[in-house]
Amino acid sequence: MLIAGLSKASLSDSIKSKALELGFYGCGISEAVFLEDDARHMEQWLEEGCHGEMTYLEKNREKRYHPALLLKETKSVISVLYNYYPDTTLPSEDNYVISKYAYGNDYHFVMKNKLNELLAFVEEKTGERKARAFVDSAPMLDRAWAHKSGLGFIGKNTCLINKKGGSFFFIGHLLLDLELQYEEEADPKNYCGSCTRCIDACPTGAIEPFKVDARKCISYLTIEYRGELDESMKDRFGDRIYGCDTCQDICPWNRFSSPHGEPDFLPSELLKKLKKPDWDKLEKPLFNQLFKHSAIQRAGFKGLRRNIDLISN
Ligand code: SF4
Repeated sequence: MLIAGLSKASLSDSIKSKALELGFYGCGISEAVFLEDDARHMEQWLEEGCHGEMTYLEKNREKRYHPALLLKETKSVISVLYNYYPDTTLPSEDNYVISKYAYGNDYHFVMKNKLNELLAFVEEKTGERKARAFVDSAPMLDRAWAHKSGLGFIGKNTCLINKKGGSFFFIGHLLLDLELQYEEEADPKNYCGSCTRCIDACPTGAIEPFKVDARKCISYLTIEYRGELDESMKDRFGDRIYGCDTCQDICPWNRFSSPHGEPDFLPSELLKKLKKPDWDKLEKPLFNQLFKHSAIQRAGFKGLRRNIDLISN
């Protein structure tokens, strides 16, 4: 069948080429079906309470497993990866550690703009569409869709791992009312083999193969969790005040990571200069100056202050 004079295959190829041209690392297309196995896995994880206080994950569960419930006309899910691996890490001497994904401006806006450009490209070719672009902004099984679209496998640390580029990627999706050419059946093989480095290196023992218990995960505790932090965790936090990259840093697949070229993800000069004493006396005005457009707003000043207070005292 032709769409606006184009075959499904050529339209799909042109969408993928355009995605790369826009700066996405990878793009794959899947049929918008019910993700039965992934739904079962997620339900089990929720049932065990591994999501901690992220009660928003308990809502809209059906929508999470079937994108047509997010947009009823959806036929295809276009999944994209965006690289955030930095050229250099922030200075480590006399400094605290923040996760690499939070060095620069908030990725949600950067990626959403690019997904909207991708949609404009599709509409230019095929006319106005029913479509929605999501970057963490809707209940979707991001990694499962990216896997289905051939963009990687799910590692024991539960990250999506691309065999050519590692795991330091943001994932986004465009739901579209067009039938397109879909990727071959997702590769069911797992490429971790006998490796257990992420499990062994996790400072809090939060990882079992293919399962992360958020209640123990430093990323969850420093970003999502709103309560008081347990003093007994202090030593395990090390110098981490926002997020934790340990299970990715240790992963041998990340020897294939290459630096992103996104100016929006570069840390500001001010952030690069901060040392522990500056963080220790961080007040709201400086927080706002540093993180006005940053994903660190997720924890907010209160959350970041709490994290610093735990490890600095
Ligand atoms: S560190 Fe090893 S076990 Fe963990 S995700 Fe990477 S390859 Fe898999």
